[in-house]
Amino acid sequence: MHIISPLDQAPLGQYTATPAAEIHSKLAAARQAAGEWAQIPVQTRAAKVAALNRLLSKNTDRICQTLGLCGGKVPCDALLGDLFPLMAQLEYYRKHAKNILAPKRVFTSPLMFPDAAAAMERKPFGVAAVISPWNYPLQLTLTPIITALIAGNGVIYKTSELSAPVGDLITELLAELQLPPGLTQQITGGRETGQAMIDAGPDMVFFTGGLAAGRAIMQRAAQHPIPALLELGGKDAMLVLEDADLQRACNAALYGAFNNSGQVCVGIERLYAHRDCHDALLAKLLDGVAKLKVAPDQDVGALGNPAQWAIIEEHYADAVAQGAQTSGPLQRDGLFVKPVVLWNVHHGMKIMREESFGPLLPIMAFADADEAVRLANDSAFGLNASVWSRNIPAAERLARQLQVGNWAVNDVVRNIGHPGLGFGGVKHSGFGRYHGAEGLLAFSYPVSSLTSRSRSEVEANWFPYGAERYAQLRGFLDFMYGEGPIKQRFLRNRVALQSFRRYSGIYPRQIWHNLRALLPKRVY
Ligand code: NAD
Repeated sequence: MHIISPLDQAPLGQYTATPAAEIHSKLAAARQAAGEWAQIPVQTRAAKVAALNRLLSKNTDRICQTLGLCGGKVPCDALLGDLFPLMAQLEYYRKHAKNILAPKRVFTSPLMFPDAAAAMERKPFGVAAVISPWNYPLQLTLTPIITALIAGNGVIYKTSELSAPVGDLITELLAELQLPPGLTQQITGGRETGQAMIDAGPDMVFFTGGLAAGRAIMQRAAQHPIPALLELGGKDAMLVLEDADLQRACNAALYGAFNNSGQVCVGIERLYAHRDCHDALLAKLLDGVAKLKVAPDQDVGALGNPAQWAIIEEHYADAVAQGAQTSGPLQRDGLFVKPVVLWNVHHGMKIMREESFGPLLPIMAFADADEAVRLANDSAFGLNASVWSRNIPAAERLARQLQVGNWAVNDVVRNIGHPGLGFGGVKHSGFGRYHGAEGLLAFSYPVSSLTSRSRSEVEANWFPYGAERYAQLRGFLDFMYGEGPIKQRFLRNRVALQSFRRYSGIYPRQIWHNLRALLPKRVY
């Protein structure tokens, strides 16, 4: 694979795809190291992994430069989109991983399980395969890697073939951490290599990318079967109500649609404005888009993937052919594309239905809140959305009606970077979660445990069976869940209940367990 910079088409290096046999041996090495790693206390694992922040901080400029060269990003996009969320996540898990992964006591009925204690525990899967896209190659590879590691797994990882030099950078950074040798393994290559990674038999797959690849990955993972978590694309809607702060909404829309040249899974791809403020907002957008600077170190950088241009051109041409008006022609200089605002658009256009993943912002009017919700939900995708209004309770009510995995009121895009919020989609946007407690739990499986301290020789549900035992158990069931108030249930089943006296009792240990299980749980 010859890697070319989207900035100026300069060659960045030549890479060979990792052969299938090597993937197998890398996976075996990661699995061996993972056994040892899983025995280390969570807090120690988290501290070792979080040491990465010091390396990221020391190498910030070099990292931003590499991300710019490989992905066409401007430095602020690299800093805000790749480094910031990753570093915040490391710090968050350093502080909270121990509590998130700690066993949780579960209340246990003394009538059903006298003198027993129950809990839910978490165990790492083993080796996670991380497969990532080109648009945020550092963050979307390293965030699942660090999460998998802190949860106690080994990792095999592959960046997009377009971001191979970022894969090298990640390997270099991980090598400086005090991790067991072999625990993390870099794989290089494209689609076929990704397929070979799954065929090699990791214990789970965490995939970020497009719908087509996500489907193919799930099909392959089903052959083992192993869990496949999918973080897919979006067609995010921004809903601006008539009482919104229009200047703030305009600035947010310009940023939300055009940062990283629109190649953002949570980029604003559909803007809906109330008809009373549509024209005023459009005027502000036209003013704002004209001021954006498209250059390597300004507001908007280059497309990170040359194949993206054909999609952007197709969506633009289809919209214009169907009557859309635009802030200007679709122009590019190399892979630097001038952002365009489009209006007079409708849902019959590709630009309102398919992921454009480029610097195009269509705006459409709605008549009332019901129509806004209907339009926003009229999409195959369901990743992120935002609602804009000065009436916060009304905006939140509206946001709750949206079919998305995440929403923000009066903010845009950056809710994905909140380290405590589990982020992910619904519908064609996938169902994986990363960040927050949910993201960490996703890299482990739950184990339920029940320990009895009973000294009785026999339990009520053990042999011998027979008609008499059936009647007793039937009475117990009716007492527990039957009709009427408890007194009535007790009186009509008194005889049956007496037969259970030999199994009951007051067990201080169980009372203590249950009291602790009932303590309010902390929200991380
Ligand atoms: P892609 O699906 O083409 O590729 C993603 C990765 O999967 C690459 O590493 C690629 O080599 C690999 N791959 C492709 N086909 C495969 C297969 N059949 N088996 C195994 N591996 C395979 O996506 P892309 O073009 O690199 O990225 C853009 C997409 O990613 C957009 O749709 C974007 O919305 C989505 N994305 C989603 C999120 C999120 O958090 N939900 C974040 C960023 C990007």
